[in-house]
Amino acid sequence: MEYLFDIRFLDIKIWDILDILIVSYLIYRIYLLLKGSVAFNIFIGLMLLYIAWWLVSALEMQLLSTFLSQFVSVGVILLIIIFQPEIRRFLLDLGNTTLKQRSNLFERLFTSGVHGAKPATNRYFKLLPAIDSMSRNKVGALIVFGHVSESQPFVRTGKVINANLSAGLIESIFQKESPLHDGAVVLLGDKIFAASCILPVSENATLPKQAGLRHRAAVGVTEQFEVGAIVVSEETGNISFASEGNLHFNIDMETLRNFLRIKWK
Ligand code: ATP
Ligand code: MG
Repeated sequence: MEYLFDIRFLDIKIWDILDILIVSYLIYRIYLLLKGSVAFNIFIGLMLLYIAWWLVSALEMQLLSTFLSQFVSVGVILLIIIFQPEIRRFLLDLGNTTLKQRSNLFERLFTSGVHGAKPATNRYFKLLPAIDSMSRNKVGALIVFGHVSESQPFVRTGKVINANLSAGLIESIFQKESPLHDGAVVLLGDKIFAASCILPVSENATLPKQAGLRHRAAVGVTEQFEVGAIVVSEETGNISFASEGNLHFNIDMETLRNFLRIKWK
């Protein structure tokens, strides 16, 4: 006797359940990563293509199946090329969280009481008076900091300054009359390393309407690199902060200070 379905419950091992859970989790992570980007539509397109191929091969439609299998066979390479920025971010996130967990563990193990308190100061606090003043005077600004290296492509598009970080210098760079005001300033440790840098622009479709290219550039650079970015809007004087591909739009000085203190040392 033939069964239409052959479900043998006893054959389901604990590993099968784990397998399903892990795959579901991965799909969920991929969804989170792609949500709101153009890449999401491409991903859906590729999935449809794959389902179509699977269907025509099951129905034994020779010609169509051969045709589609050409796409499917280069599928992995195609995926890597198209999703290069997303894959990069995924791996960055992965390493990042693991490292963070490890350092949290160390902190908990080796610090206690007064010694465990978070430092009340931070090297980027030097920026705050400049941000405040530029916001009041509606001077547009874009500042990138964090895990920056001289060889990163966006850093190389700018002009090297390599001066000590000071609020006065930041403010004078972003004055309209300054030859270096256009583009982003990039900090490297305690130095203002470069100005007039061109950043990658984010294609995130969920950003607020008022976010123009300067804001999109701030988000874009934090999608691809382990950096944060501060924006002062020339149109409104609003302050925004970008980190890990998210834009915290129109925040006050206190919130900015907290973002800097919590995440960036
Ligand atoms: P604002 O509120 O200041 O007008 P915005 O988000 O509306 O900001 P735009 O008006 O499109 O941005 O651009 C303003 C400035 O942002 C540009 O003159 C330029 O200096 C800077 N900018 C734009 N795109 C980039 C980029 N990809 N990299 C670095 N700087 C950029
Ligand atoms: Mg604008």
